[in-house]
Amino acid sequence: MLGLMQDQPLLISQIITHAARHHATAEVVSKMVEGGIHRYTYTDLERRSRRLARALQHLDVDAGDRVATLAWNGYRHLELYYGVSGMQAVCHTVNPRLPPDDVAFILKDAGSVLLFAETSFSALVEAVAPRVAGQLRAVVIMADRARMPNLVLPPGMALLCYEEVMAAADETYVWPVFDERTAASLCYTSGTTGRPKGVLYSHRSTLLHAYATSMPDAIGLRSVDRFLPVVPMFHVNAWGTPYAAPMTGASLVMPGRHLDGASLAGLMNEERVTMAAGVPTVWLGLLQHLRASGQLLVTAQRVMIGGSACPRMLCEAFDAEYGVRVSQGWGMTETSPVGTYNTPKASNAHLTGEAEMAMRVKQGRVLYGIDMRIVDDAGHELPRDGVRSGNLQVRGPWVCSAYYGEQPGSALDAEGWFSTGDVASIDPDGYMEITDRSKDVVKSGGEWISSIQLENIAVSHPDVAEAAIVAAKHPKWDERPLLIVVPKPDRSIDKDDLLRVYEGKVPKWWLPDDVVVVAELPHTATGKLQKNALRGQFRNYLIENGAA
Ligand code: AMP
Repeated sequence: MLGLMQDQPLLISQIITHAARHHATAEVVSKMVEGGIHRYTYTDLERRSRRLARALQHLDVDAGDRVATLAWNGYRHLELYYGVSGMQAVCHTVNPRLPPDDVAFILKDAGSVLLFAETSFSALVEAVAPRVAGQLRAVVIMADRARMPNLVLPPGMALLCYEEVMAAADETYVWPVFDERTAASLCYTSGTTGRPKGVLYSHRSTLLHAYATSMPDAIGLRSVDRFLPVVPMFHVNAWGTPYAAPMTGASLVMPGRHLDGASLAGLMNEERVTMAAGVPTVWLGLLQHLRASGQLLVTAQRVMIGGSACPRMLCEAFDAEYGVRVSQGWGMTETSPVGTYNTPKASNAHLTGEAEMAMRVKQGRVLYGIDMRIVDDAGHELPRDGVRSGNLQVRGPWVCSAYYGEQPGSALDAEGWFSTGDVASIDPDGYMEITDRSKDVVKSGGEWISSIQLENIAVSHPDVAEAAIVAAKHPKWDERPLLIVVPKPDRSIDKDDLLRVYEGKVPKWWLPDDVVVVAELPHTATGKLQKNALRGQFRNYLIENGAA
């Protein structure tokens, strides 16, 4: 017998309709590429998204067509999120920090028919356009006529102005109702292992993910919040927060292109931001700025960190020096992205000091909807004892089932599990702790050493700005950890003093065999350490330098 409740599909357009109706005066504040601040309300966003949907019809965009974006976090990008998905097309966000070769590959692979780009990406658009000639019908510059750049595009590819296209449309568009499993957005993995792969989110997966991340033990946005997504909208939909914020009525403060400490501190204070989210590098930059300038955070209460392991010192410093609570989440492009979030449980809420910190640096517990387990190399499930670590697998309604262009289910094993490529432990309370990417773990004499743990301890040293552990070849142990560090400005590194930071924190045999000091470390287009580049450079370091 079927239940007798309304069968309403979960659609992205409902989020913005809800926000316009019930949080009409909540703001979207955008720091513009051309300078200055733009502000309007969710009512305006909903109205302009419908106008954009009508404009897309005028540009012959059909249901299922991919519409690409090259843009920072700002109101026009939000209009694309809602306008494109709302009219049943697919919003395809492209990471502009990738090399032109990858951007061209991604546009081709997705078969996108239009590209919306901000003026700051003109050179990238010109470099890529000839390689998608015949496929891309037009480039729409996200600006008004006065700021249109002079772009040279191949014959047959039109150059259009966003505000002109919008002005030529009307606002009579009515959001269509369709199957909630329809594709809504497309985002490519950062391609650390080979070519980027597309992950195709549905309306249903997007709504369920936004719901789950809005729960109080997760991101927990509220209508009184003013939320700053520093994580870019081109990286896994800014962790779904452009959907969660209007769903809950929280205002959005969009940072545009300047993500350095000084710019962020200014924006957070001027726009009374209560919560923000981004990768650790961003918060390290903010912390350095705050300490150097003596500036305080006036309204900020919470910061979400994800994308890479959260160094313990960030939790401690923001708490103690600025009264801001740092919480960690874990996820990946393939999981929409949020799978776990770290908040206390009744069983550990009383912890203080070391014991509390040991809990807080873990990646957290699963959100309702996600199931998670660890397995050994033969696929056997390992105990949730917080000690054994194994390959992390997940499943749930916002986990991908196949990469774009492949057969549904092809990314899963026979029981429907998706292998994340992360190595982790899960403790009896359900807290997952990543010990490594499976390819970054240091295999010394058959035992595994966690590169993440060693990196986190290294950055707690007062002279260290950033650290990476590389598995360097060793004739006896197969691999040994090599520590590569960037000193803080005006500090120098004393190797022996630095290595003393590990005393009592890890087994002796985990200690890095050597330390290399460099001016900077390579990062991927999404801000993660580019371990494969470092491995290439330092794989033979111990052997070549006689340290092995
Ligand atoms: P991406 O798909 O680019 O978002 O990368 C996903 C990968 O980032 C995950 O598989 C993890 O290896 C890593 N990652 C994400 N969040 C965390 C975290 N909180 N701690 C450690 N690693 C993380």
